Amino acid sequence: MEKFDFDMITIGAGSGGVASSRRAGSYGARIAICEDWRVGGTCVMRGCVPKKFLVYAAEYSGEFEDAAGYGWHVPAPRFDWTKLIANKNKELDRLEGIYRTLLKNSHVTLFEGRAKIVDAHTVEVLGKRHTAANILIATGARPTMPRIPGIEHAITSNEALDLPHLPKSIVIVGGAYIACEFAGIFNGLGAEVTMVIRGDKLLRGFDEDIRDSLTEAMTARGVKIRNHTEIAEIDGAGRGFCATTTRGERITADLIMYATGRSPNVANIGLEEAGVKTKPNGAIMVDSWSRTSVPSIYAIGDVTDRLNLTPVAIAEGRALAETLFHNNPIEMDHANVPSAVFSIPSVATVGLSEVDARREYGTLDVYRARFNPMKNTLSGRVERTMMKLVVDRKTDRVVGVHMVGPDAPELIQGLAVAVKCGATKKQFDQTVGIHPTAGEEFVTMRDKVPEPKAQAAE
Ligand code: NDP
Repeated sequence: MEKFDFDMITIGAGSGGVASSRRAGSYGARIAICEDWRVGGTCVMRGCVPKKFLVYAAEYSGEFEDAAGYGWHVPAPRFDWTKLIANKNKELDRLEGIYRTLLKNSHVTLFEGRAKIVDAHTVEVLGKRHTAANILIATGARPTMPRIPGIEHAITSNEALDLPHLPKSIVIVGGAYIACEFAGIFNGLGAEVTMVIRGDKLLRGFDEDIRDSLTEAMTARGVKIRNHTEIAEIDGAGRGFCATTTRGERITADLIMYATGRSPNVANIGLEEAGVKTKPNGAIMVDSWSRTSVPSIYAIGDVTDRLNLTPVAIAEGRALAETLFHNNPIEMDHANVPSAVFSIPSVATVGLSEVDARREYGTLDVYRARFNPMKNTLSGRVERTMMKLVVDRKTDRVVGVHMVGPDAPELIQGLAVAVKCGATKKQFDQTVGIHPTAGEEFVTMRDKVPEPKAQAAE
């Protein structure tokens, strides 16, 4: 007779929880997974996947404009939001079905209910208690909004993905991943977009050249960016809403969306009862093996607030399954994780920004290219792509690669392998380009950007 009902009970069937459970199940471990919403979680149901469908839709408007220069006569295109949302939802239903089948094929038991940890080895779900040698918390995160008067009038990315109508105008508060992505979506689909950011530029924490290039490109595409601005209150204004800034200015729009960060889903899952320690923002504290303060309880993904990216949660989950159930200890490596912002144009990056690299390595060689890509010549669009390499001068190692421009995420994914392998600038130079592409610029950069001091003296 087994000591526990299961080898592991996972709470949360998002990307991380499902990946970990399936990998564990494939090794013959007895796994259960609990989910009180839809199988697939944030990424599949109200994050990366539906967002990217909307980005694809929004990119068509630029493509229609650009086609004329290539000889196409495109009648004024009409856009049908209802059809897009219906098609998107149909695809999400299909994906959810696939996720369920994958769990079944990996012999993972699915409990469709809200789970609560009772003690270090017990989980209660659907009114029954189940024991497990290990418990994995993979409950993700949810959007947060500041508590200002009238905030109940604002929507988050959750609602933005399922709006009954496309707004004619929208105010988006925040200047990070989600804000930039939805600004691109609504702008591309024809809405008037105003971004309200409290800092000076978009994408705090990214390389300054990325921040400048994206601001320039989004502004040129018609997005209004109001920096150094904070909203004090929101109220209804006729059929729309009005956001009043702390300086007393009033900004009206059909909709007001907040993309001001996400907070870990830790409420009422029994953390206190089990003695699982959390950080001040609620995130579960874990070591490099994703183990919490309770040795039999683990946590992965956004609920731990390490690097909040789907592929990171998946990698953390698989590493745990390997460690626990395959005698193959894998400690998650969070270094040089590439990431992308699916704004229009897109942003992608791997490694350190110039500022962070200077702090870590001291002397650097920096290479940067800004050019209007070939496709824009006949179309007449003027939108410069930006590419940048940050190189540690002592070792010649490329420690940061940054890009703003079409297909940046696709390009950076490949270059991330080189950075992860510790490639040097010399090895980039020895790589032959593919012509004509934008990507060949990454292996042909010769001129160094002048040192910051020299720049100041110019
Ligand atoms: P982030 O947590 O990355 O940034 C929050 C943004 O909101 C910042 O611009 C911040 O400004 C601003 N902000 C925070 N509080 C306030 C406030 N009270 N008033 C005004 N502005 C405020 O947020 P996101 O919601 O964009 O993303 C959440 C997470 O989801 C990220 O960690 C990201 O990793 C992940 N994600 C990844 C995606 C991808 O990989 N493509 C896509 C979407 C999300 P300031 O800079 O001044 O602090």
